[in-house]
Amino acid sequence: MRFATISNRLSLITASDTVIDLARTSRGWFGPNIQDAYEHWDELLEFCTTVTEAGTPLSDVAATEFGNPAPHPRQLFAIGLNYADHAAESSFAVPEEPPVFTKFATSLANPYGTITLVPGKVDWEVELVVVLGRPAHRVAAADAWRYVAGVTVGQDISERVRQQAGPAPQFSMGKSFPGFGPIGPMLVTPDEFDDPDDLELGCLINGEQMQKGRTCDMIFPVPELIARLSAITSLLPGDVIFTGTPAGVGFGRTPQRYLAPGDELVSYVRGVGEMRHLLVAGH
Ligand code: ZN
Repeated sequence: MRFATISNRLSLITASDTVIDLARTSRGWFGPNIQDAYEHWDELLEFCTTVTEAGTPLSDVAATEFGNPAPHPRQLFAIGLNYADHAAESSFAVPEEPPVFTKFATSLANPYGTITLVPGKVDWEVELVVVLGRPAHRVAAADAWRYVAGVTVGQDISERVRQQAGPAPQFSMGKSFPGFGPIGPMLVTPDEFDDPDDLELGCLINGEQMQKGRTCDMIFPVPELIARLSAITSLLPGDVIFTGTPAGVGFGRTPQRYLAPGDELVSYVRGVGEMRHLLVAGH
């Protein structure tokens, strides 16, 4: 199944590409806030199998109506260096434990619109983003996908000067400026994929491909990340995990390249969807 936030309302996208307003259809049982729905995710999935109405055409929805499908997580995890080729371009060894940081929740943003640049070196990182659908504590990797509500597309926008300022790196700060964490537009349930552990993801700037990878090349695949995170932390419904980026970021290129005003950034996960952002100058 596919879900989205459309005009601030939890929506089901049917197989025939129509949109169902779930708060209206369920007479207020679910939604309209998508974040509340993660608390009752199993019930929501069951309810959605009973929906018979036709809905309105998805093609009538303007891009600007799509919101963030997980706007208010209680916890937001992000993983560094989770693809060997990106670890290499970053001059790091392949990690033995996943490096974990957060993007503070106010950095989350919508899947279409503008991203305001800040002084420094603002870089792109397309990522598969996972949203939890059940509480998860000490979950085995073999069971981990059952705790996932769905996956979506994310950009872990990063200001590299702040990120690398010493004495210890400041990943969470350098990646938490307002608008630096757009996600969406669709949240797709794991059962929609032949293999949820092998998805293509990439991003383009002004039509030029910058990153292209596959999630099967993750050092710690999604189930392993959930196992390792939940071995320590209790994961909560609606929590968000940015799962790391493949090679091709700006600071790993020769010469280095960073985002500039007027750039159009398109980010996608094949079979999930595509986000589109215009970079604008800060003031
Ligand atoms: Zn990242």
